[in-house]
Amino acid sequence: MNKSSRREGILFILSAPSGAGKSSLCRELIDSLPDLRQSISFATRKKRGGEKDGVDYHFIKPEAFQKKIEQQQLAEWAEVHGNLYGTSLQTLKNAAEQGIDLLLDIDCQGAVQLKKNYQQGVFIFILPPDYAELEKRLRARGTDDEDVIRRRLENSKQEISQALWYDYLVVNDDIVLARDRMLAIIAAERCRSHRTAYLLDKFTVKGDK
Ligand code: 5GP
Repeated sequence: MNKSSRREGILFILSAPSGAGKSSLCRELIDSLPDLRQSISFATRKKRGGEKDGVDYHFIKPEAFQKKIEQQQLAEWAEVHGNLYGTSLQTLKNAAEQGIDLLLDIDCQGAVQLKKNYQQGVFIFILPPDYAELEKRLRARGTDDEDVIRRRLENSKQEISQALWYDYLVVNDDIVLARDRMLAIIAAERCRSHRTAYLLDKFTVKGDK
């Protein structure tokens, strides 16, 4: 297959306030679409129980992360809740070249950085139904103390205030409905004519201009 006979990989960038259910939604999408891959970020935070290095994140030390910044190996990076997170530039390059669609679960600061260099990316903001539900979900996790919950709720206001520059807003009121909305977006974006123009190649009659 030559380069012009297939499309470049698409970046689907998802952001959401903590508690909106973004991680579960990403898992649903990866399980539903075998031709969608999740980008695995670098992170300096400690591994949580059940997490695997190289699967959930590439867990690295702050010094190693700093080196990646200096060597310009990151497409974007940000400090989130006191830890550093970043996306590998090489992963994005490889996916684009090989026509692989990537799902990126990153915060708003990182999404803003990617928006500058990857205008063709699809930026999607996941919303909870309302603040009351967001608070309920954060409490239901049972993992964070009151201070952390308050801080995350406060941060969510700032994050939601950025939602309008994203291409899509998806409400996660119900995981199945939210997944179906996401699948519809992904299917539509894959059919955009600027991405699928190569399909016309086989219809070109010799001698046609
Ligand atoms: P957690 O530590 O709970 O897995 O993730 C915390 C936050 O970091 C989430 O909002 C997640 O989207 C964000 N995050 C994960 N990976 C990246 C990344 O590579 N870049 C940026 N900017 N944020 C990330």
